[in-house]
Parts: sequence; structure tokens; C-alpha cells
Amino acid sequence: MNKVIYADNAATTQIDPRVLEAMTPYLTEYYGNPSSIYSIGRDAKRAIETAREQVAKAFGAKVQEIYFTAGGSESDNWAIKGSMDLLKAKGKTHIITTNFEHHAVMDTCKFMEKHGFEVTYLPVDEEGYVTVKQVEDAIKENTGLVTIMYANNEIGTIQPIAEIGQLCRDKGILFHTDAVQAVGNVEIDVVKQHIDMLSMSGHKIYAPKGVGVLYVRNGVRLSNLVHGGGQERGRRAGTENVASIVGLGKAIELITEDIPGRIEKVSKLRDYLFEQASKIERSRINGGRKNRLCGNFNMSFEAVEGEALLLMLDLNGICGSSGSACTSGSLDPSHVLLAIGLPHEIAHGSLRLSINEHTTQEDVEKIAEVLPKVVGRLREMSPVWNKLD
Ligand SMILES: *Cc1c(COP(=O)(O)O)cnc(C)c1O
Repeated sequence: MNKVIYADNAATTQIDPRVLEAMTPYLTEYYGNPSSIYSIGRDAKRAIETAREQVAKAFGAKVQEIYFTAGGSESDNWAIKGSMDLLKAKGKTHIITTNFEHHAVMDTCKFMEKHGFEVTYLPVDEEGYVTVKQVEDAIKENTGLVTIMYANNEIGTIQPIAEIGQLCRDKGILFHTDAVQAVGNVEIDVVKQHIDMLSMSGHKIYAPKGVGVLYVRNGVRLSNLVHGGGQERGRRAGTENVASIVGLGKAIELITEDIPGRIEKVSKLRDYLFEQASKIERSRINGGRKNRLCGNFNMSFEAVEGEALLLMLDLNGICGSSGSACTSGSLDPSHVLLAIGLPHEIAHGSLRLSINEHTTQEDVEKIAEVLPKVVGRLREMSPVWNKLD
């Protein structure tokens, strides 16, 4: 059996052994309910608070501003839906977002429209960026919330978050960012960047699935999304997912240890892939190269069907994705690729590879060897390829 080359880290990551090791005692010995009085409960409680410190430290936040959730989607939902009451009370029923957000933000904004809110979906440019000027021009008297992703999950483009944060702070507008893909790839400081709410997820940074964080700046009176017990200082009910929370804390500590080193190592491998794959005729790189996640590769190959490409790569032991894993199963091409202006047929022939620090030079060489062959083979079988002019 050949080794599998896993290049779909934007979809999910493998748990780091050090993370698993940190978690294991909380699945075995310290199984107590963190709300209990006895020591195995208190130990669990202490472990959660350590994880909270680890997360707070990574973002330059205070521990009381960190809330554990069941993942990035819940955090996004909570940030936006939880703002409903406070925004309505102030008559601020206009929201600004972009047209290439993750569905957890996009669909929640659609939900807000059904509940009396007006939403502006800013168009990103053909490279996949939004500008501060665009946000500024879209602000109205009644704008109460801006929610813009830190880095895009499909094309990896990083948005000018600090500048948007400054603008929102100056105008008294709440600012939320989905930073699920950004954590560990950019230096995040919620104070310097004027971020009021920030979402992240465990399973994108080598912790388990089903755990996440919402940072909420002190003073932002979000309503609860999950009602019930008094966990998370009464703001997010439910017995804590102790082991996963411990894992997330450890994972964020590890991934933020050496961000510049990570970027240097991973972007070199990714750039090699871009260079090699760009030699394939009628191909294009999706998303700008300048401010881009170090592990993100996204290209389109004309007259190639993305799903077929993925299957052929899989036969060669390479795991990638086409568009977004969340949208496969639907025939519509990714809304992100449409947002940067790709025609439907080209968007369908797209490939996203997301590599990380465990990817080797050997791995990218193997991908660079297999990809042109597979694209060529699919084109031979394609009814449209020979008709292209
Ligand atoms: C994966 C992802 C999410 C969803 O996080 P889950 O923990 O899987 O719910 C949200 N936003 C972005 C940008 C993502 O990549």
C-alpha cells in the first residue's frame, strides 16, 4: 500500500498525537462532570480553565471572553443570531457581509433576513478580496453588525481584518470574523485588530471535531443560542466536552508557537505545486497570491470535471477536494468560485489542495507528477476538450 497523501486539511485535520495525549486522561480518569464538587469533577473544571487560558493567550484576549462551543458553525450562528436582540433594541437592523462567506455565516445571514434584518453581501474582487473602502461605502445609519471571514476556506485569501476592525470600532458597529481557517496561519490579536467576536474550530487545527470557540469581547451582550444549565458563565448551556476542550487548548498552543516558521515551510511547498501545476495548459490559479493561507492551493483545469479529478487523484492516493466539501453532493459549483467571477463550467473543474507542515517535498513532487497525467487522461475522455478553441 502506498502512503496516502492527505491534502485536504481545510476540510479537517488529523489529531496531533500530543493533543490526543493531553486529552486521554479526560476520557478515562477524570470523567467527572466539571460542575461537580468532588475532585474528579474539579480536575475536569481546572482543565477547561487551562484550555481557556491557552485560547485567550493565542488571541490576546481575556479568559472571560472565551466561550467553548460545539464548533465553528455554532460559533458563527451564535455570533450573528445572538446579536439579534441587541441590534433590534438599537434599531440597527442592517448587516454587512461578503458573498463568499462559509455557509455557516451565509445561511445565518439569510436567516436574519427572515427576521427583519437587511443584509448587504459585498462582492469580492476577482482575486477574492474585499476592501475597507467597500465596507465603508456600504455602512448606513442603521448598520449594526459587520461579519467578514478572516481567510477563505476555498481559495485561502486573507482579508484586511485589522483595518475593517478599526473602521467598525470608529463607527460603533459590532465586528465579527470567522477565523476558522486563519488560526495558526496569521497572527491574531483581538485587541489590536478591534475584533468584537471571533469564531474558530478545533478540527481545523489538529484537535477533534465538534469543539470550537467564540471569543466575545467584554461588554458585548450577546443573547444565548443554547439555553439550559449555567455552564460557560451562563452563556452557553450543556455539560462541557471536557476532553475535546482540553485538546483544543493544547492544539492552539502548538499551532501558534511558530507561525512565521510554519508559513515559510508550508508556502514553499505550496508554491512549488503552483509552479508545476501552472504548466498544465488551460489552467488557472484561483484567488490572489499575495495575502493567502500558506497551505492553500486552488486551481481550475478547463474541460475537467472536479469530481472525476478527485476520484482519479484518490486512486493515486491523493486526497483533495473540489470547491468545498460542504457543497459536494450538490450540482451547483462553489459559490466562492462564482463570487470571484469564474464561469460555471470552469468552476466545476476546480481542485483545492490544502497542505500543512506534515506535507513533505516528496509528497508535493508526487502530486506534481500525478496531476498533469490525470488531467490529461480526463481531457482525452472529455467531449468538450477537443471543441475548445
Ligand atoms: C470548517 C469551517 C467552518 C465550520 O466549522 P465546524 O467546526 O466544522 O462547524 C466555518 N467556517 C470556516 C471558514 C470553515 O472552514
